[in-house]
Amino acid sequence: MRDELYQQTILEHNRSPRNFKKLEGATHVAEGYNPLCGDHLWVYMKVNAGGIIEEAAFEGSGCAISKASASMMTMALKGKTIAEANLLFDEFHKLAIGELKPDQQPNHLGKLTVFSGIWQYPARVKCAVLSWHTMHGALEKTKTVSTE
Ligand code: ZN
Repeated sequence: MRDELYQQTILEHNRSPRNFKKLEGATHVAEGYNPLCGDHLWVYMKVNAGGIIEEAAFEGSGCAISKASASMMTMALKGKTIAEANLLFDEFHKLAIGELKPDQQPNHLGKLTVFSGIWQYPARVKCAVLSWHTMHGALEKTKTVSTE
């Protein structure tokens, strides 16, 4: 059941990724690269003076998993504080490597829990976490992030 939801969600976001654009006036930008798969993307955020992420977007090319993950991430980040974004990064990373069981442990992941089975496919984990590492790098003012 969950596998089916996962596949449908990935395909749908791959077909029509949300916030797939260069964000004009972005305050935080980073470039992420996953040489293992060839995923290559940029993450943009506009953080206001109150520390709220007003907008998040991405562009680039990559496999369906990397694009779907980035698309869902930009949706999840909108309206979050930087501290909340860092918490989500931490939770998503743990989910992707199988250390967080969303059914059993409290979390803020919401729809992002569709990725909860991905730890069973180690080669795909880096695809799923690429945009998140890139977002985290952008908040830390790191310009380029590689999964290697
Ligand atoms: Zn990939």
